[in-house]
Amino acid sequence: MEAISRDRSWLGPWSGLIHCGKCHALMSESRCPCCGHALEPDHWTTVTVDGREHKLPAYINPGALSWTAHSLLGLMKREWERPLLPEEPSTAPLAKQCSQRVLVVILFWTLFEYLMDQLFQTALNRLPHGVGVDLLRRHQSIGSRMDRLYTMLFDARIKADLDALEHSVVYDHLQKIQSRRNDFIHGNADAIDDDLVRETVERLPDVQAAWVALYNLRCTGDPSAPRVYEDERHGEFVRQNERPSPP
Ligand SMILES: [Zn+2]
Repeated sequence: MEAISRDRSWLGPWSGLIHCGKCHALMSESRCPCCGHALEPDHWTTVTVDGREHKLPAYINPGALSWTAHSLLGLMKREWERPLLPEEPSTAPLAKQCSQRVLVVILFWTLFEYLMDQLFQTALNRLPHGVGVDLLRRHQSIGSRMDRLYTMLFDARIKADLDALEHSVVYDHLQKIQSRRNDFIHGNADAIDDDLVRETVERLPDVQAAWVALYNLRCTGDPSAPRVYEDERHGEFVRQNERPSPP
């Protein structure tokens, strides 16, 4: 497992990513690639190169990465990099079946479900509040949300969107992780082996890039929607979604 550099970036496309203040898109440039809105510099700074002064714009904007996503990525990194424990004879049968780093995959799937929650909450912000809460309550599983809810909201299949965004490989990868993770929690301990853990880490930047592309395709045009980093506003939506339905 040491072939993957310990110094690799776990932030992936989040590094330098901010929201466009006009259309809500996620972007890493000073001009929005979706609506063309140009950021206003907060101030100008002067630098001297080869004796000549140059004035450069300086921008101060909150990064899009939420504390929750940041924490999950940090936990994945720590789990991946920690030394493996020596295998004791009494645990050998278990060690042969299941990767010692199984938590990497579990944490990854938690991160993915969390990110999809952010995507759907942003998209549902356009609808009357009660409609959004009811739709999330009716479609609580990630499988139902990615299939029926996605198709209902966007009149498109998520696979077709990922294909169009040139992230077909990510769709197949997510299907594989979801299937193996389900096998694992239903009693098949060796469903998450070292190969799957490695693949999860290797494809993490691609999954995050695909999510950003999907977000920009389906979640722009509504500046009033919660920002991705606003965990508290998303949390309010979740708490209302968890209220019991009236009899
Ligand atoms: Zn924009």
